[in-house]
Amino acid sequence: MSDVKTDWEVIVIGGGPAGSTTARYIAEGGREVLVIDRRDPIGSPLQCGELVPTNAEMQRLCPGVPDIDDLLQTPEHAISRETSEMYIVPPSGKPLQYPFEGYMLNRVAHDEALVDLAKEKGATYLTDSRVSSVEGNTVHLKDGRTFTAQIIVGAGGHNDPLRKKYWNESSLKIPVKFVLMDGDFGDAVELHFGSMAPGGYAWMFPKKSGANIGLGVQQKYCKDKNVNVLTEDFVNRYDGEITFRGAGSLPMSGTIRSFVKGNYVLVGDSAGMVLPSNGAGITIAMIGGRIAGQVIAEHLTTGTPLSQYEVRWKKQMGKVMRNSQRAFKLGSFIIRLPDWLINLVFNRVTKPFVWRSITCRNMFFLF
Ligand SMILES: Cc1cc2nc3c(=O)[nH]c(=O)nc-3n(C[C@H](O)[C@H](O)[C@H](O)COP(=O)(O)OP(=O)(O)OC[C@H]3O[C@@H](n4cnc5c(N)ncnc54)[C@H](O)[C@@H]3O)c2cc1C
Repeated sequence: MSDVKTDWEVIVIGGGPAGSTTARYIAEGGREVLVIDRRDPIGSPLQCGELVPTNAEMQRLCPGVPDIDDLLQTPEHAISRETSEMYIVPPSGKPLQYPFEGYMLNRVAHDEALVDLAKEKGATYLTDSRVSSVEGNTVHLKDGRTFTAQIIVGAGGHNDPLRKKYWNESSLKIPVKFVLMDGDFGDAVELHFGSMAPGGYAWMFPKKSGANIGLGVQQKYCKDKNVNVLTEDFVNRYDGEITFRGAGSLPMSGTIRSFVKGNYVLVGDSAGMVLPSNGAGITIAMIGGRIAGQVIAEHLTTGTPLSQYEVRWKKQMGKVMRNSQRAFKLGSFIIRLPDWLINLVFNRVTKPFVWRSITCRNMFFLF
């Protein structure tokens, strides 16, 4: 079936942004790593809104993160278009407009590029192979094969098998649905708040041709409408042929308390590394992946404790994550208000505060 050897220093479950970045830095640190992913090719089918900040914008959003340009090497072919503006749209439809430098990705090409980068550094991949469980140092695949490793990393997203079995802390997960639509949708990315997406938000992100349009909601606030109906209602606001439909789930309660248990390590969505105030997970998973990969390589080489991963994460991302969690809690209250009140809340006076909360800054210090 495959001639991949069975005993490894590190096995990473999942080769998405978190897993491939972790593997890249483990390999760069001179250690051996096997990535096992159930998909083939990794990244397909698409499950994403495909928006990320540019590197310069990331540096402003996450000032504690070093060497952003080394971490985020998005190749040209993975960028569908660049955007320079974000509209925050209340139910009235009158947007608050902000400068925002972002890339609309071809997410599938983006994730494939991350796999290539990790392979170039020396990581090995096993695709089309689902991990069913982990016992001690042994990773069991659904097809009966087993692999062993000194360290096992759970980067399998929101349903990661390691997280499910060995962490009993739960995360708030919100269901997300989206479509790709043909047409011309301008340059600005749009985030919509109000009863069209109870407890979450809806988006329209223009691509080179067409747009990625969707929404995420908190079920408990949806009353008589479910996520399918709400998605259809929102998508129907736009004209164009739907070429793809996708769905997924986003952890929205922030990071879990601990990412390390013995020789098990979590990274990316499995550790809750999504900024709840804006749903950003790709670049955040990669920030976590770099720290995890570097610490694991150091652990194997010089004995650095794995807990250094949590220490470094908190130093680089602790404040941003705390601000984002606070903003999400406040936002969850505001966006449950009736639409007419939300329209009043989103105004010229509150405009800077709205922006600071969405971009994970402390809301009450403007300078
Ligand atoms: C609909 C949707 C829209 C989104 N839009 C955006 C956006 O616009 N911008 C943004 O920054 N973020 C967005 N996100 C969030 C972002 O996609 C995630 O935060 C990010 O992908 C996390 O990366 P990850 O590597 O942790 O997990 P994933 O990308 O989910 O990768 C996990 C990998 O693990 C593999 N895997 C899972 N289970 C197993 C198993 N048992 N065995 C083997 N392999 C396994 C999967 O095949 C997958 O390749 C969106 C998410 C969703 C669902």
